[in-house]
Amino acid sequence: MNRNLYIGTYAGIPIKIHWTFSFIIVLVVYVSISENLLLKESLIFGLYVLCLFLCVVLHEYGHALTARRYGVKTRDILISPIGGLARLDHIPEVPGQELRIAIAGPLVNLILAGIFFLIILINGHFLLPEEESLAILMHPIGFIQMLLVLNLVLFAFNLIPAFPMDGGRILRAMLSYRNDRLKATYIASIVGRLLSVVFIAVGAIFQMYALFFIGLFVYVMAYREYAFLKYRKEQMKLRDARENFQPGVDDQFPASAEF
Ligand code: ZN
Repeated sequence: MNRNLYIGTYAGIPIKIHWTFSFIIVLVVYVSISENLLLKESLIFGLYVLCLFLCVVLHEYGHALTARRYGVKTRDILISPIGGLARLDHIPEVPGQELRIAIAGPLVNLILAGIFFLIILINGHFLLPEEESLAILMHPIGFIQMLLVLNLVLFAFNLIPAFPMDGGRILRAMLSYRNDRLKATYIASIVGRLLSVVFIAVGAIFQMYALFFIGLFVYVMAYREYAFLKYRKEQMKLRDARENFQPGVDDQFPASAEF
């Protein structure tokens, strides 16, 4: 059963929404009711959440279109409540290419932040952060200011080196310059799992549910990568023992290809 909602194909890449995204709509309605928002205010809040995910989609296009430059196809872009995934066919093993693909996503958010900054400068002034976030959102400049903050957060958060997040992939690519790829992946996955435990703890203590689930996701993915790595190493040892090991196409390490 296909649980992803197909939205459309843009620049040759299909965009899909995971069924759990419906929780976001429930959340918007819940916040609107519990904060006693008027209908107009609820719609503005909903629009902001929509813009948030639009920025996430553009981030994923940053990865996907950079990957295309290196001949890597993107199967689709999947949007879920904890973020987006550009599902690439594979990841180039050339560290410089992986580095550029990984960095392109956060870079899109930095550029968007720059654009919102200019829009605010042209139209007047920044609002003081003494008001409540929802109140700031209801002001046109405040709305753009919150989008600016959002993109700076997306930029910084994705650069945290928690493999398989972008920062972790950047770390793996940089380690790959000096180490073999297996060792680089090993180090990046250990760093990723350590950081994911921090995410889970901070998310649980401060009731930041998105961070909590991102932590769980990072832990599972980094562990999967690590377990696979161990399996590959054992396989290679076995083949080395047979002395006639010739690396072929399917002996290359197929790293996870989700950004
Ligand atoms: Zn990314």
